[in-house]
Formats: sequence, structure tokens, C-alpha cells
Amino acid sequence: MEIIVEKKLNIKKFIAATLICIILMLVAINCVYDNFISNKNKEATIGYVQEVEAKKQEELKQKKELEEKKIKKYDALNNDEIAKIENIYEHSEPKRVFLTFDDGPTEAVTPFILDLLKKENIKGTFFVLGSMVENYPDLVKREYEEGHFIANHGYSHRYKEIYQSSDSVLDEYNRTNDLIKNAIGIPYYNSLVFRFPGGSSGGYYHDLKQEAKNKLKEQGIASLDWNALTRDSEGATTKEAIIENFSETVQDKTSVVLLMHDASDKILTYEALPDIITYFRNNGYVFKTVFDLFDRE
Ligand SMILES: [Zn+2]
Repeated sequence: MEIIVEKKLNIKKFIAATLICIILMLVAINCVYDNFISNKNKEATIGYVQEVEAKKQEELKQKKELEEKKIKKYDALNNDEIAKIENIYEHSEPKRVFLTFDDGPTEAVTPFILDLLKKENIKGTFFVLGSMVENYPDLVKREYEEGHFIANHGYSHRYKEIYQSSDSVLDEYNRTNDLIKNAIGIPYYNSLVFRFPGGSSGGYYHDLKQEAKNKLKEQGIASLDWNALTRDSEGATTKEAIIENFSETVQDKTSVVLLMHDASDKILTYEALPDIITYFRNNGYVFKTVFDLFDRE
């Protein structure tokens, strides 16, 4: 009897010990598994954080590069670029035309010209006057946003003021440049190309203009006249006269810089513009802005 009881007790002990062993093993397995999973999670988290950080750094780098590229777009011109302006009238294949508009912007004419250029998908160059930019900054902004090049025609257009000295030419350039920057809202913008009121050579101020031209060049600013004109500011009083003047001065030139005006009394220029555009289209000219010459993006 005693032996049987003892056997039963031993069996119970054995079962209890086995159960404890199994439980301990399960606990141990669970611990190892938890540890494994936790390590995995940790690795995944570290990997994710690193990935996010790398992505952030790459985005910052791209943003910085883009910003530098944008600023570089309006850097001072180098000698090669200035030479491109100086050689602008040389033979070109295909033929090309630069439509240029001086003395604006004005409410009376500029918006009509902009509408027409937009409809025709043509980009032009506007040599704006600082005093007009002050009056109509929104029009300058519109010119810029519609892909035209905003160049510089000084501030006052009054010969006695702008041609007081070569430095006053530079002062008017800079004053106008600042007004353009403010109007279009781009602090690093530079107009880069200057057109002397009345042209860059000849006349009473010839020597002073040459001196100013060199000073501008030293600052990476080119100056540009024209090789064809409508005489819209020299007494052409009908659309027909404008067309006649322009075709007479264009003749067989393969690179045309056409002088026109968008001053407030030049609505005739706008009225003649469709015929002028048609002429260039029919004769195989490509429309360019002066800025296109620099191959800057
Ligand atoms: Zn002018």
C-alpha cells in the first residue's frame, strides 16, 4: 500500500517537474523571440530615421542648387556674353528678329502689345524706364511673367539728367534695376542690357556715352542699340508709314534688332505690329529675346 502511494507521489512530482520545465522553456523561448522582434523593430526604426534624414538632406541640397541656379541666371554678364551682344547684327542662320519696345510700360499701349504677343506666342524685349516702372509695376511684372525680357533704359530719359556724367548713367541704370527687382519681386534679378536714350553713339554726348558704355561693361552690363526701326517716335503718323519705315530698314538683314516704343502715344505701333509679325513669319525669321543670346536657363 505504501509503495503504491509512493509511486503515485513520484509520478505527480515527475509531472509537476515536467510542467515546470515546459513553462520555463516557453518563457525562455518567448524572451528570445521578444528580443529578436525588438531588435528587428529597432533596426527598422533606425533605418527609417536614416532614410528620412537622407531624403531631407537631398531635398535641401536640391533646393540650394536650384536657388543658386536661379541667382546665377541673372549674374553679371561675362565677356563672351557681352561679345554676343556686340556681334548681334552679324549674319544669322536661321534668320532671327528681336522685337524691342522702349520707354514703357504705359497703361495706354503696353497691355495691348502684351495681349497680341501672347496670342502670337512671341516673346519680346522691353527696355523699360525707371520712372514708368514706378508708375506701373504690375505691368512690368506681367511682362516678366509672360516670358519677355525686361532690359534697362535708365530712369529719367532726360538727356540733361542722365548724361550729366558717365556715373549718372550708371546711377540711372542701378535705380531702374532696383525698381524692376521690386516690381517683379525677384531680389536677384538684373536687367543686364542697357539701351542709351537716343542711342549709344553720335551727338552731343558721344564721348560721355562711350565712357559710360565702358563703365557698364566693367560691371558685366552690355549696351544695345538697334539696326532697324519703325520711326514710331520720329514722326511716323500712319500705320502705313510705320510699315514702310520698318521694311525699308530691315531689308535683307538676317539678324534684326527692331526698335519700337510702347510709350503712351504709340498706339500706332500696336496697330502695325500684326503686319510686322506677319512679315517676319513669312520671311522665315525666328523671334528671340535679347536674353536668349546668353543661353542661360
Ligand atoms: Zn527711349
